[in-house]
Amino acid sequence: MPDISKTEEDKSIIQKVVAGEISFRNIDKIAESVDSAISIRRKALEEITDKKFEYIHHYTIDAADASKRNIENMIGAVQIPLGVAGPLKINGEFAQGNFYLPLATTEGALVASVNRGCSAIYNSGGANVRIFQDVMTRAPVFRLKDVVQAKAFTDWISRPEIFDQMKKKAEETTRFGKLISVEPYVTGNTVYLRFIFDTKDAMGMNMVTIATEAVTHLIQDEFGAIPVSLSGNMCTDKKPAAINAILGRGKTVIADTTVPENIVKEKLKCRPETMQEVNYRKNLMGSARAGALGFNAHAANIIAAMFIACGQDLAHVVEGSLAFTTMEVTENGDLYCSVTIPSLPVGTVGGGTSVGTQKDCLKLLGVQGPGEPAGFNSKKFGEIVAAGVLAGEISLIAAQAAGHLARAHAELGR
Ligand code: NAP
Repeated sequence: MPDISKTEEDKSIIQKVVAGEISFRNIDKIAESVDSAISIRRKALEEITDKKFEYIHHYTIDAADASKRNIENMIGAVQIPLGVAGPLKINGEFAQGNFYLPLATTEGALVASVNRGCSAIYNSGGANVRIFQDVMTRAPVFRLKDVVQAKAFTDWISRPEIFDQMKKKAEETTRFGKLISVEPYVTGNTVYLRFIFDTKDAMGMNMVTIATEAVTHLIQDEFGAIPVSLSGNMCTDKKPAAINAILGRGKTVIADTTVPENIVKEKLKCRPETMQEVNYRKNLMGSARAGALGFNAHAANIIAAMFIACGQDLAHVVEGSLAFTTMEVTENGDLYCSVTIPSLPVGTVGGGTSVGTQKDCLKLLGVQGPGEPAGFNSKKFGEIVAAGVLAGEISLIAAQAAGHLARAHAELGR
């Protein structure tokens, strides 16, 4: 993007921003274009901090569009290298065939490692993937007078005709979201209602927040419970929480494959028994001893790289990291491997999925935009991410089983 804040008027705005007379956010109201506002803000920042930026003004994304939906006070863009791993053969309900995974990362060796896992899976006939639940949650918190009123409130909430009223109210706010259930949790005189929605192709956080807010007004009017906060943290959004690992949030998705003994030896350079032992003592026992919520090697690595590439909400890597990896030697000496991801919030519409470079990555996977029927694309995408995590787990556990981990990082990452 060229440096376009060259006019006298722009220079005068920059000086006013530096002097503190115009705030960063008000530049948008007076600059002649979004790109000019970005340039003015950046130049003012250079003057204020006495720093010269060399890179952040180079970008290809549509700044006007991003400024509308994705970012405030924009000054440029940060680039992250994008690699590809694959083909990854997937036998899912929604994702079927060979896929090339877009991975945006600065961690050397990650793409190479996932690529090796993809190759092992490909040579094993592919990864089976199934989605067991697909929901998004929002849990407002209410204050009641005492436990007597709290019990009366949860009894009221559980009445079918009240659920019907809440569902009608929620679904007036969205064409796609469907309220599935409302689960109460009580602590003294505090009641949390965990609203559970099907959000189709949207990850759904905005959608469920808007819909749940409409219902909290209904509850306050009809029952008199006082809504204290639209999110009471029982949702649980963007924090590591057992409730997500146990009940699920986003997609609850499981991927597995059985790697034949000869592929473990030839491609992964170790033995099924060694990988089983590393998985047992590291992912299972080690995680338990550490009090971890995720029992895996590096699920977050693959999820983060795919989330960056594909415009997902990056804070949801926290939830994705609550994954469980198993490895068992079968009766005939092959290696059964699985990953269970209870909480994978993903979408193919909304949020960062509309940014141009991210759209390209979703296109690569054949999941950009709304699916047909609604929900198909986000389910397909969830299956692909889970299969990618399986590839990453197989490759890293094999590297540790073969004692290759430090060497690969030394060769590829530094
Ligand atoms: P969104 O962009 O707010 O909403 C999705 C939009 O896509 C809706 O307008 C929906 O229509 C429309 N849509 C079109 N085709 C659809 C299809 N096939 N399936 C589903 N929806 C379809 O996105 P969101 O996923 O709800 O929210 C994501 C954003 O929320 C991210 O930017 C994230 O960072 C942010 N976020 C918000 C909160 C919060 O508390 N508000 C918390 C965490 C993250 P309708 O309008 O008819 O539903």
